[in-house]
Amino acid sequence: MTLNIPYQDNISYRRIILVTSTMLVTIFAFFFFGIINLFIIDNTPVVTLDFTAAIFSTLALLYLEKYKNIILAARLATTNIMFFLLFFIYTLGSSHFSLIWTIFLPIFATLANGKRVGLLFSIIFYAILFTLAYQNIGIWQNGEWLLQDWIRLVFASSVLTIGMYLNESAQEESDNKLQTIRLREQQHIKNLREISIKDELTGLYNRHYYNEMIPKLMNLAKRNDHYITFFILDIDYFKNYNDKYGHVKGDETLRKVASVIQQHIQRGDDFVFRLGGEEFAGIIISNDYEKTHTWVMSLCQTVEDLHIEHSASKISKYVTASIGVATICHAKNYTMDHLYSFADKALYVAKNNGRNRSELSLQCG
Ligand code: GH3
Ligand code: MG
Ligand code: MG
Repeated sequence: MTLNIPYQDNISYRRIILVTSTMLVTIFAFFFFGIINLFIIDNTPVVTLDFTAAIFSTLALLYLEKYKNIILAARLATTNIMFFLLFFIYTLGSSHFSLIWTIFLPIFATLANGKRVGLLFSIIFYAILFTLAYQNIGIWQNGEWLLQDWIRLVFASSVLTIGMYLNESAQEESDNKLQTIRLREQQHIKNLREISIKDELTGLYNRHYYNEMIPKLMNLAKRNDHYITFFILDIDYFKNYNDKYGHVKGDETLRKVASVIQQHIQRGDDFVFRLGGEEFAGIIISNDYEKTHTWVMSLCQTVEDLHIEHSASKISKYVTASIGVATICHAKNYTMDHLYSFADKALYVAKNNGRNRSELSLQCG
């Protein structure tokens, strides 16, 4: 029913459904009445009118289907109904209760086009209709159409038009309010999600997100048969650092190191996490693992190059880090636990070999 037309809010969604369904109904109705008038009542002008209106409705629907422009389609459909009703009344006058059909114009015009354009359509329509009806006082219905009938028509139609305008205003206003509330809620949800996946201190992804992302990344690598490189970075002698410089300074250093890791691992599909404490991790999916290794391993130098003073370190004047790197060539043979344990062992080796270095565990057998 919506013909895959994009919509932003309730009102445009309602409009699309209304315009398409009304056009469908009018196409059937105009053809139906056209055939009835042709074969049963034999009223040629009305038959012509019915078929013309049916053809215009069909064109408007085809236009909407092709160009997905609901605003123009609504205007075409309203113009079509408006001309149909005017010619219909022009042909039949007020006999056989025919004026009753005119109530559909302000209703459809307002619902399909919104309050302003709807009002404009109604005013144009009624300006012509009232003039026509006024000129035919004493003529329509074999002279029984009187001034008081005309006044009743004007009054009822005006009340209906104003009612439709007010109803649409209320609808638009409540819809706007709802839209604002929805946008605010979406923003809140986005913020909450951000809070839930990020580490407060460093702004890196946290362990929770790590647990969520790793299986997905593993599957991605398995599907594309890419290499997965996973590393754990641990700051050296960080307990000594805290003892010497205090926790506040320690936090500041964690932030600096996190930021440098983040800058170092920049590609959009690589992820870095704070696993907890002074331990960070990263996962990189690539098709050239040697390049990835050189890159990850240069992180040790990058951390030392921050030149954060660490006089309690046994291996450097500055804060340093050790990295355990694990690469698996055939992801489908391994789980994340394997990968983690390879990297953890490599880190242990790096620590034992003197720290401020990286060690590699390559699993390509
Ligand atoms: P190693 O070279 O073997 O890694 O020694 P280390 O002292 O870095 O390792 P250890 O695991 O003994 O100590 C880690 C320290 O990290 C303990 C704690 O003081 C510090 N730490 C953990 N989380 C935080 C944090 O959020 N802020 C700060 N400032 N320090 C933290
Ligand atoms: Mg540690
Ligand atoms: Mg440490």
